[in-house]
Order: sequence, then C-alpha cells, then structure tokens
Amino acid sequence: MKTSNNELIKSISVDRATDLAKNILTKVMQFRRMVESENTCSTTCTKCHKPHLDKVVTAIMQEKKVRFVLPAFPGKSPNPAKVLGHLPDMAEKQALKFLNSLCKQIQEIYEQGAEVIICSDGRVFSDVVGISEKDVTSYQIEIDRLIEDLNLTALSTFNLDDININSDFDQARSELIKNYGQDIKSLKDKIKKGGKDSNNPEEIEANRMYCGLTRFLVEDRMVPGQTRSKSSIQKECKEKAYLAIIRSNAWTALIAEKYPHAIRLSIHPQACGSKKIGIQLIGIETWMTPWHAVAVDTGNKFILMKHREAKKLNTKLVQDKNGRSSHYELITQN
Ligand SMILES: [Zn+2]
Repeated sequence: MKTSNNELIKSISVDRATDLAKNILTKVMQFRRMVESENTCSTTCTKCHKPHLDKVVTAIMQEKKVRFVLPAFPGKSPNPAKVLGHLPDMAEKQALKFLNSLCKQIQEIYEQGAEVIICSDGRVFSDVVGISEKDVTSYQIEIDRLIEDLNLTALSTFNLDDININSDFDQARSELIKNYGQDIKSLKDKIKKGGKDSNNPEEIEANRMYCGLTRFLVEDRMVPGQTRSKSSIQKECKEKAYLAIIRSNAWTALIAEKYPHAIRLSIHPQACGSKKIGIQLIGIETWMTPWHAVAVDTGNKFILMKHREAKKLNTKLVQDKNGRSSHYELITQN
C-alpha cells in the first residue's frame, strides 16, 4: 500500500515536472533563432521541445538548476570595420545581461532557476580565424570581469585554458583534435550533401554552419586597405572554415562529455526539432553576434551593426567609465 502511494506521489510530480519543463522551454523558445524557412514554428512546438524536455524534467525532479551550455564569445573579430576593438564592449555587456535575465525569468516559474555556462571557443580556433592568443586571453578575462561587475550570478565561463594546464595553446588544440576530432573528408562530404536537397538534418545543419562561418571569415578578412581579390579571400576562407568546424565540433563533443545533462544553446539559427536551441543575444532583427559588430543605442534599445555602418549614421561614439570605446548612440533630430 505504502509503495503504491509513493508511486502515485512520484507519478504526479513527474507530470507536474513535465508541465513545468514545457513552460520553461516555451520561455526559452521566445528568444530562439530559427532558420528562416522554419520561422513558423510556435514556441510550444512539441517537436522543438522534444530533444530537451527530458533534461529539463530530470533537473526539476532532482531540484537542480536547469543548466544551459553555450559555445560563444570567442573574441572580437580582427576587422576594425566590424568592431570597435579587441575587448568586450557594450555589445557583449547587453548579450550577457540578456542571458542572465533569461535565467532569472526561468527562476520566476521554477525556484531553482537556471544557469548558462558560456564555453568560450576563442582558444579553440583563434589561429584559424586570425585572433591573436593575447587578444583571446584579454577578451576572456574581460568577460569574466563583466560577469562579476554586473553581478550576473546565473552566468559562468568555461574555456580550453581551464583544462590546458601547461598553457601550451597549440598542444591543447592538438589534444582536443586527437581526442574529439573528426575526419576532414567525411565532414566535407556531409557539407556537400547538405547543400543539395538533403533531408538529413545533420547534413543541412553542417552545410548551414559552413556557409555561415565562411561568410564571417571572409568579412573578417575584408579589412580596410587590404588589396587581395574577394575571390582569393573566399577560396582561403572556405578551407579555413572546414578547420574551424572540425575544431568547433571537437569542442562541442568535449562540452557534451563534461556537461552531459546540460541543454545545448547555439548562436546559429536552428531548424525545428534540432538538438541545439538557437538563441538570440540582442534583438531578433538581424543575425549578428556581439563579437562581429558594435552596439548602437537607438534611444530605447540596443541593436547590433557593423562598425562601418554605425559610423555612416548620425551617431556619436560613447566611452565607458574607463575611457574605452563602448558603443554608438543614435543622435535624434529635434
Ligand atoms: Zn518546431
């Protein structure tokens, strides 16, 4: 008799946990980035919830925080036409604040709340994308400082340096590839198939990631005053994109092993039912990231745009309390 009562209590709490988990996921889905062709999915879409539901239910049953991991914040683009400098600025500040507020919103409906572990991937592919080791280091330090200064208690960071005890970055990267890397030929194959009417979500996702990364890499190299042709830059970047994806996938595999119960967020737009939830960091207007752009204060919100575009508008540069360039402010005409 006692056992069946216990079972009853447990089954009710599983049901409640499932309802709560759905509400939590619906909240997250409000801020997701979907691939344009699938933007019709609702925030309560069962197929979109499915890959994550069990993880949230388990966290609730164990009265633990709902944990998200987000590989992001690698370091600023090396192109001054896109960003203000090599350190985090208002763009990162706004994105970090948003991630923290998302966790706080979850806490309003689930007492234990949520946390986001930012798994910076800067060191993972800095040499491929052309960010110096020094700049990755100072960017990482500054992100940690911002989290502390702004009291963003739901956020923490994890990066390759945390497991690289010898501070030998090249060695850390080759260890990563040795343990978690995939073969370049099979990756190229997958990307190729994903570009041609594929029905395989993994192939489509691989192709999309490749195109997105190539675009970022090309933009990063189109620095003011450079004299190479765009097609030669494109050719080089396509090869670099393969390397960056291999590194990035290896990093993903390491994160999944380290945080097996965490829900995987991504800065890249995702399709319905994806294993990752694409998450916006600032606004939904454009697909841009804080480290490829500058923040522009429009008076009631911040938006992201490329540095050269912000300069073309009627804007003024704003500095932070340390005298460092922070963001642009739109000058409104009276
Ligand atoms: Zn869906």
